[in-house]
Amino acid sequence: MQTMPLYGRLVDRYGRVHNDLRISVTDRCNLRCMYWMPEQGLAFLPTKELLTFDEITRLAQVARTLGVTALRITGGEPLVRKGLPSLIARLSEIGFDDLAMITNGTELAKVAERLASAGLHRVNVSCDSLRPERFATIRRRGNLAVVLDATRAAEEAGLTPLKVNVVLQRNQNDDEILDFASFARATGRIVRFIEYMPLDAEGTWDRDQLVPGREVFERVSAVWPLEPLTEPTDAAPAERFRFADGIGEIGLISTVTEPFCGTCNRLRLTADGALRNCPFSDDEHTVRDVLRNDGTDADLSLLLREAVWAKFPGHGINEPDFLRPARSMSITGG
Ligand code: SAM
Repeated sequence: MQTMPLYGRLVDRYGRVHNDLRISVTDRCNLRCMYWMPEQGLAFLPTKELLTFDEITRLAQVARTLGVTALRITGGEPLVRKGLPSLIARLSEIGFDDLAMITNGTELAKVAERLASAGLHRVNVSCDSLRPERFATIRRRGNLAVVLDATRAAEEAGLTPLKVNVVLQRNQNDDEILDFASFARATGRIVRFIEYMPLDAEGTWDRDQLVPGREVFERVSAVWPLEPLTEPTDAAPAERFRFADGIGEIGLISTVTEPFCGTCNRLRLTADGALRNCPFSDDEHTVRDVLRNDGTDADLSLLLREAVWAKFPGHGINEPDFLRPARSMSITGG
């Protein structure tokens, strides 16, 4: 039987080294995206249950000593958490190779400069349609023009390369694949097409609603030939392609049809302080109690190691006995 190593980097029983930590700073969001949150009736966590900035910083420091080099700030919507630039400044001092944030862009224009000065390297902005009315339907609230303005503000502040995340749903926005490819070419932003995953709060996900990454590749490359930029062994979730004429780049995140679990290097910290080794697993390792009960850094390291060690070989979405995670992704972090 394998024993968990008590020193060195964060490795699981399948040899996957974990160097990417996603921290959800809040479960709240100012939008109600159809593929993620219910329109009404969401109960948010009481503030006292959220990790404080001190607690998040401490856990990030310990993770850094264990070889975590990439940090992603997410939510809920991270920019609805008050004072976020001050947290970014503290995380930046720790010294990560990649310090990024994923946002819906609604509040980004106002704080892009402050985030960049605090040490944020780049942002991923979610935007599922380039048509104002459809954008509003999918996100249920929010305004496309505000989000597009925010992408420009982020670029001016130097938060680049700027990635635009598009969740594709059949008969919802799959007629915009070429529009988004054209947008990537015109703006230099990296558009990433994401397969719709069974993480919607209403539990209505159906395989027929997703648009396979392969299909996106075929539809785009029929118009603008594509060349691969990544190797199958790369840990990044997106398969990257550049346009063969040298203008622009897209990414495909094919979590369901071409799972990349074999190279997964990611670990998540929920807004209420639980470590999760996969968004599709219910396995949680609570760090909040350790942080609030005088736990040592060694205690935190052990929990990080245990969370990684417990990871399954794959997310299991395609298995007949797959069960959706009990806690909504808005708590566990997108
Ligand atoms: N509020 C931020 C935002 O909108 O980007 C951060 C959280 S959001 C959950 C993070 C990412 O998860 C987004 O790019 C979103 O598109 C993606 N996401 C959420 N639910 C999804 C689902 N059911 N399938 C695929 N991607 C999903």
